[in-house]
Amino acid sequence: MARIIQAVSPLDTLHRPLRDLRISVTDRCNFRCTYCIPFAESNWMSRSEILSFAEIERLASLFVQAGVSKIRLTGGEPLVRRGLPELVRQLAHLEGLRDLSLTTNGALLAEQAPALKEAGLRRINVSIDTLRPQRFREITQRGDLQVVLEGLFAAQRTGLGPIKINAVVIRGFNDDELIELVEFGRLHGFEMRFIEYMDVGNANGWAPEKTFSKREMLEIIQSRFPLREIGHSGGSAPAVDYEFIDGAGLIGIIGSVTEPFCGSCTRVRLTADGKLVTCLFAEGGFDLKSMMRQGASDAELGKAIATAWGGRADRYSDLRWQRLQSGAGYEPQAHKKIEMITLGG
Ligand code: SF4
Repeated sequence: MARIIQAVSPLDTLHRPLRDLRISVTDRCNFRCTYCIPFAESNWMSRSEILSFAEIERLASLFVQAGVSKIRLTGGEPLVRRGLPELVRQLAHLEGLRDLSLTTNGALLAEQAPALKEAGLRRINVSIDTLRPQRFREITQRGDLQVVLEGLFAAQRTGLGPIKINAVVIRGFNDDELIELVEFGRLHGFEMRFIEYMDVGNANGWAPEKTFSKREMLEIIQSRFPLREIGHSGGSAPAVDYEFIDGAGLIGIIGSVTEPFCGSCTRVRLTADGKLVTCLFAEGGFDLKSMMRQGASDAELGKAIATAWGGRADRYSDLRWQRLQSGAGYEPQAHKKIEMITLGG
């Protein structure tokens, strides 16, 4: 029976409503992207630590009651979680949920796209930082570009859409590929999302000079393809969207470092082991799984979600940018963050 949903939209201490939930369904991944998990192995979560689909569905329902209208599934790599279409099916039926999407590295997409679409998934983002096979291998440490491209086109054939391609732009690595990536998107009907390289986690070796800024990306892309700015989708999406003047579609650019958007950040994260995390750069999270497994009621869990959000004061990227601009110095390792492989970016 469908649950009665009543969104109450609590505000955090900076008056930001709770709107988006990113659910990490596993901390495992079949790639080892250098900016996410530069080490070969990790202290992977055991199966008993990971939330079951029923637990995820229960918590997701409570988040929706607390104001969430958009859910994105992430990992690790979400498609390595066995039976994911079944979870998609459960979440797609949540009353009050307007948008269900998934971010994937694409390696398993060719085989899973039809089942995901059939289960109710609406759109996907696929991470492709480079279109050069050797470079792709270098940054993913395990990935095969051809397999990912096959997955991308298989997803397109199923009718999933819009399909966005996420590309992290790293100075000196792939900043010479912006035009190639834009052309690829225009030619095949994908929306490119360029993302400034940032210091997620503690182990990715980020330094300010490796960030290729949104302004620099725009200059290069505009010199070839004139653009018109549209703004942030829905007012709070991290990307600033642009449309090609010639009508050939859209691109988005996320100025994670040089144009922080903490003021409109309405995102909460649920880790694969059931921790509610209020910022990508948080040091820890609130353990909803333990509460749930100790028998907490829906009302108690809902109150815990509202309390965690109500106490939220995170604005990490704003503060980092202030320090970088003021010359006060910014030491990424000084702040012990949760690794990106656990949060799904
Ligand atoms: S730094 Fe934290 S609060 Fe700021 S936009 Fe990123 S996730 Fe949101």
